[in-house]
Amino acid sequence: MTGKTRRSVCIAIDGPAGAGKSTVAREVARTLGYTYIDTGAMYRALTYKALASGLDVGDAPAITSLARSLDISLKPDSNGSVRVFVDGIDVTREVRSPEVNMMVSPVAAIPEVRALMVEKQRAMATAGGVVMEGRDITTVVIPDAEVKVYLDASPEERARRRVRELRSSGYAVSVDETLEEIKNRDAIDSQRECSPLTKGEDAFVLDTTGMPVESVVAHVVGLARKAQEMRCTTT
Ligand code: C5P
Repeated sequence: MTGKTRRSVCIAIDGPAGAGKSTVAREVARTLGYTYIDTGAMYRALTYKALASGLDVGDAPAITSLARSLDISLKPDSNGSVRVFVDGIDVTREVRSPEVNMMVSPVAAIPEVRALMVEKQRAMATAGGVVMEGRDITTVVIPDAEVKVYLDASPEERARRRVRELRSSGYAVSVDETLEEIKNRDAIDSQRECSPLTKGEDAFVLDTTGMPVESVVAHVVGLARKAQEMRCTTT
């Protein structure tokens, strides 16, 4: 059975940059008829707007006040991806720019910004039937999700994946500079004070280096189906 029913569960996926979270989450959501929620896009949208407004990303009060004033929304498009809107304007392409890649982690490290985003993300997950991916989903946003997965891959493989993604969107980037950028982002994301990226104790860890995406998707779908069955027998 697919579609959101009383068997619908929450699937939380965390992992470092380029681990394949978006591709896997999108495919899992499509297979199960769930809603895909890309939480990184929310931090990216705020960063894009901060840069476009000439704000200093180190100015936490200014960034927090911008975060409070913005209407950030994620809308599914026809191919299962998500389009990102800020105050009604489509910024899907802009939020993936190299400039946003460089500045998003300092913005996401601001505790007040995280509190605002986490509140919105929890509200999106209350009805179940979601596949939510990010850095703190299994540990902070929905720690009681029925399925919790930590996706990983070697830094080199993650850089190659990011380069493919960026080049297909028209950005000319090299593997070396992308490797530097994701290592830098991982360091900030895993060392920040407020809800750092960590492998939650009860998350299922999957190293996707060299693994075809279909196998990763099949694995997560398998975990979700088991969780759905469990939920069915216990409700
Ligand atoms: O997933 P993506 O690479 O698009 O995320 C961009 C950045 O947003 C991450 O490097 C991280 O700094 C931040 N982020 C976060 N918490 C999340 C999702 C993303 O801090 N749940």
